[in-house]
Formats: sequence, structure tokens, C-alpha cells
Amino acid sequence: MRDCPLCNLNLKKEKVFYEDDFIVILRTKKLKKHQERIMVVWKEHYTNIPDAQFYYAMMKLIDVGKKAFNYTPKFIIMDGTFQTIKHHFHLVASDLDPASEDFDLILKTQWLEVIGTELEGI
Ligand SMILES: [Zn+2]
Repeated sequence: MRDCPLCNLNLKKEKVFYEDDFIVILRTKKLKKHQERIMVVWKEHYTNIPDAQFYYAMMKLIDVGKKAFNYTPKFIIMDGTFQTIKHHFHLVASDLDPASEDFDLILKTQWLEVIGTELEGI
């Protein structure tokens, strides 16, 4: 789509953690004072993503997130209630930092998953 900012994104200029034919996992445009904040984006335009694709995207985000957030015991995957990106199905994963700019919003958002990293239990 010509006017879609995500379709026009130059991935070479982004911090990309993972990419295949279907999805890309990259650092979000704004870190909002988090040490790390990443999202999985489905490359095709979807308004309602089928379950299989949803779980695929989620599974990959968890895999990548365990490494990307290895500085902290837990990270969360948020529901897209407050999403600003149109056309593309995406999920944002974030650490939990009370000093981050969007911490209030994080607390208001439904969490789809809370995932422990390797640090959990230390
Ligand atoms: Zn697009």
C-alpha cells in the first residue's frame, strides 16, 4: 500500500531481530524510556488475523523476546487496544519499568502474555 508507513519502512535502517516471509520483529520506533521495546508485524494487511497466524506471530515474538529482554526477569506482550498502527496486525512486547513513559498505559492495557526470561528466579 503506497500510503502505508509500515509497507514503506526501510528495514535496513531499523533494528530488526527476526524476519521471514510473513513477519518482521523489530524495535519499536519509540522506546518510551524502556531499555528495549519490540514488536512483531505481519507483513500483509490484515484487519482480522486468523488464529494460526496470530499464534505464529506470538510464538516468534516470545522466542525473540526471551533474548531481547534478557536483562530483566520478565516481559509482557500487550493487547493492541491503544495501537496507533493501522492495516498491519502487530503485537508489542515491553519490559516493565515504572520509570518508562507509558507505564500507566501498560497497566491499563490487557496483557496477552507475561513471559519469564532466563533471569527468572535469580
Ligand atoms: Zn502496509
